[in-house]
Amino acid sequence: MLEYKPIIQRIISDLFSEKKIEVCVLRLDLIHPQISGNKWFKLKYNLEEAKKQGSDTILTFGGAFSNHIHATATACRMFGFKSIGVIAGEPDYEENPTLSEASAMGMYLHFVTRNDYRRKTEQVFLDELSVKFGNVYFVPEGGNNYLGSLGSSEILNGIGDYDYVFCSCGTGATFSGLAASIKERQHLIGISALKGEGSLVTETQERVNLIRRKYDLKIHGNTELLNAEFLNKSGIINQYHFGGFARHTNELLDFKMNFEEQHHIPLDYVYESKLFYAVNDLIANKKIPSNSKVIVVHGGGIQGNRGYENRYALNPKRNVNDAQG
Ligand SMILES: *Cc1c(COP(=O)(O)O)cnc(C)c1O
Repeated sequence: MLEYKPIIQRIISDLFSEKKIEVCVLRLDLIHPQISGNKWFKLKYNLEEAKKQGSDTILTFGGAFSNHIHATATACRMFGFKSIGVIAGEPDYEENPTLSEASAMGMYLHFVTRNDYRRKTEQVFLDELSVKFGNVYFVPEGGNNYLGSLGSSEILNGIGDYDYVFCSCGTGATFSGLAASIKERQHLIGISALKGEGSLVTETQERVNLIRRKYDLKIHGNTELLNAEFLNKSGIINQYHFGGFARHTNELLDFKMNFEEQHHIPLDYVYESKLFYAVNDLIANKKIPSNSKVIVVHGGGIQGNRGYENRYALNPKRNVNDAQG
């Protein structure tokens, strides 16, 4: 397995100095040249478990630009597993960068209709896939299971002392792992990349409870939906989704471009741009007390930008002034 050495980068801006807030980025996007981001943490114990169960094949699920599919294909290749990706959509998606690279790394792509894809957690559907593919080890979409959260509870290992920990939320697996590992006086704030996530919150709560039982840890993160007005406890904010999952506005695009220019840290469109926008906005609006130390977990995901730019015909280097309207 990979050795994890946290890379922490402080980012400087007039806004942060003016508000007297120290902001650092935990660069999970740099943990390894091929496997980037939080996806590795969600996979590692699943790979170990697959081996324990005597399976040499990982089967998992994802969309056409999925970071999880890309990371699973890469990790399986590195650690000697075969991999199967069940993908929602058409075989001509295979030409997109995410899927063509996954395929080049040896992942077998199995395309299913959107209707079938919705059955991805139903036992009957998994049984059908077992009949078709044999003794496979199932990893749910996004690595969103107990072992995924358990791996994510190691993300903050070896980092210093911070008052606020921020992360992006898709399935919430990463959030629940972080919630199990923060210290009593720290606040964990998740920024949801999706619109409306009542079920995300319930599921996340359950997972946090599971981790607590396993480790007998004190859980300090709670999984309430927070209003961005009040950051005096841990929880998930859903006011920065910019129209929903894999959607954006020009304001978000401008923020992403300016941020990258200023700090030389690449962001993805789906998760991290929204996360860093939120951090900036909350600081600008004095929701974080001065003299706080903030760490933002950068979950990677840069590989997905090529497909995203293609899908929305975006020019990543466009002039800010062209972006109006
Ligand atoms: C998958 C992903 C997330 C969300 O992680 P969850 O554990 O599903 O909440 C955030 N950022 C990036 C870059 C991702 O790829």
